[in-house]
Amino acid sequence: MSNITRTDVVIVGAGPVALFAVFELGLFDMRCHLIDILDRPGGQCAELYPDKPIYDIPGYPVIGAQELIDKLLEQIAPFKPGFTFNRMVTSLERLGDGSFRLTTDEKEVFEAKVVVIAAGAGSFQPKRPPIPGIEAYEAQSVRYAVRRIEELRGHDVVIVGGGDSALDWALNLQPVARRVTLVHRRPDFRAAPDNVNKMLALRDAGALDLVIGQVSMLEGEGGGLSAIVVNGPDGATKISCSRLLPFFGLTMKLGPVAEWGLDLHENQIPVDTEKFQTSEPGIFAIGDINWYPGKLKLILSGFHEAALMTQAAKHVVSPKERIVFQYTTSSTSLHKKLGVPD
Ligand code: FAD
Repeated sequence: MSNITRTDVVIVGAGPVALFAVFELGLFDMRCHLIDILDRPGGQCAELYPDKPIYDIPGYPVIGAQELIDKLLEQIAPFKPGFTFNRMVTSLERLGDGSFRLTTDEKEVFEAKVVVIAAGAGSFQPKRPPIPGIEAYEAQSVRYAVRRIEELRGHDVVIVGGGDSALDWALNLQPVARRVTLVHRRPDFRAAPDNVNKMLALRDAGALDLVIGQVSMLEGEGGGLSAIVVNGPDGATKISCSRLLPFFGLTMKLGPVAEWGLDLHENQIPVDTEKFQTSEPGIFAIGDINWYPGKLKLILSGFHEAALMTQAAKHVVSPKERIVFQYTTSSTSLHKKLGVPD
């Protein structure tokens, strides 16, 4: 099979625990590739509370959630992990030689000797807006995420929502789409003020339309959208369009992880507390996704789990190599890996 990404460890998820796992695995020379359904690293920290302060990260009396993610990215930079964003890992199977093959919803294939599931509470999935009959258009005309911007070139695009995603995409698609219309139920926006101002400037310049109201109806045939109807303060407005992008936030669902044949305990994956291995040898689970007696869903618990998992993963990736315990403070070989000058 061509176009297979091969690495030592594939990590499902790119939340804080997955990022720290890259550091621990990197110290033991294991190459990592991370796959996340979100469009950037950081999991819950980046998606749900980027500006909130966290007070229980060791060594930081207070640190912003996004700041923690930025620091983790800086810390793992020497190990050059691979990232694939905007993709959900849909299947996981064991190959004849004992290694694993993972496939995404866009049919990309990854192979690795070890799989680390750091999938948090599951995959973030878009909330479907309450528009009658929207399901019929989802395969073709309605998109909850923009995977390839070029697919929207020349389309009349309607974006629905008032948060950061809606505003970001209104601005990014404005030069690409034939016409962008932003629909929001009220004239106030939750998005970053700078982006709101940029959008209003484009509206004032006639380069983008802004319509206040709620989408009440879709029109089209065979899954192809031709128009939407928006109910607003001045009555109903019909807008011609070929693509609809609703950004109504995300919910978390366990998703495909439940179908990979692993034992589950109330939507979490049971692991032992020595290796953090699942019911399948070579597949580990760390962070919020795992369960063991006394489990605490805290970032620091996930960091500890990543360190212990790494010892066990090393035995799978390099069974003949002896594991030597070393401190980062004093080991010159670890300094070399981290790029610390002599
Ligand atoms: P997540 O951060 O949940 O990341 C998992 C990632 O996996 C997600 O990005 C998801 O998209 C991805 N994923 C899942 N399934 C798939 C799939 N099939 N394919 C591709 N990607 C997939 N913890 C603390 O320690 N201190 C705090 O003060 C604190 N405050 C919090 C405040 C709030 C409001 C919330 C919501 C949580 C807080 N937490 C706090 C909890 C903390 O954020 C979590 O413990 C932490 O994010 C878990 O990290 P993780 O890497 O295990 O999972």
